[in-house]
Amino acid sequence: MSEAGPILLERVGAVLRIRLAREEARNAQNRQLLDELDRAFAEAAEDAGVNVVILAGAGRHFSSGHDLKQAQAERAGFTVEERWHYESERYLDYCLRIRDFPKPTIAQVQGGAIAAGFMLANMCDLIVAAEDAFFSDPVSYMMGAAATEVLVHPWVMPIRIAKEFLFTGNRMSAQRGYEIGFVNRIVPAADIDRATMELATHISAAPPFAMRLVKRSLNRSEDVRGFKEAISAHFDIHQLSHVTAEYGALARGGVAASIKKISEKSG
Ligand code: ZN
Repeated sequence: MSEAGPILLERVGAVLRIRLAREEARNAQNRQLLDELDRAFAEAAEDAGVNVVILAGAGRHFSSGHDLKQAQAERAGFTVEERWHYESERYLDYCLRIRDFPKPTIAQVQGGAIAAGFMLANMCDLIVAAEDAFFSDPVSYMMGAAATEVLVHPWVMPIRIAKEFLFTGNRMSAQRGYEIGFVNRIVPAADIDRATMELATHISAAPPFAMRLVKRSLNRSEDVRGFKEAISAHFDIHQLSHVTAEYGALARGGVAASIKKISEKSG
């Protein structure tokens, strides 16, 4: 393990595990964490010794989403243009770089993967979930935003279930995620480090260029069905939702309350 920071790196053979390491903040994604994460993926892309990347979270939860406290403290007064610039770089582009990372990736999810935590986990090719894992995107229901910045939801779950997920803001269990196909495996929470590493090690033994090519074709099969167009269109809609009257009222009156509610929901 490297020194403590917003992320930790662990190398086992040809597998790199990148772990979100803001355990005290339920791995809330602040600017520093996102920048470090993007840098770690960029370096892993260039490292010929890395064949597979695991994205994990330290502590009880994978990630509670974007760091709303930092957002409120540093960006509450952002203009439309400033928010667009910030979110298109750090939320949209960083996510799509993970989605198109040129090697197989596995999200290792325990506890909550909430809002941007759900978004981030779903940028990975595979998801291994602990029995206690749960997924939710309550930002439409609670905060008046149009989902998260990257609307990956209808690409990983059937449309009717995606609608229920976003209209209710309710949690989805790992078991339900497995049944509808966006969770690959469920393992006991105590075993998730080992089980995910075992799967990653198995994949890392495959010819790496073949993995790169097949991933490219699989992602392209989503792209020809409109993945990138739909993702890009939703990003625009999401930006609009940041400047609605109802979002403004909720943001002025209730960011602290929303943080509290989301925190309570994430246990
Ligand atoms: Zn946003």
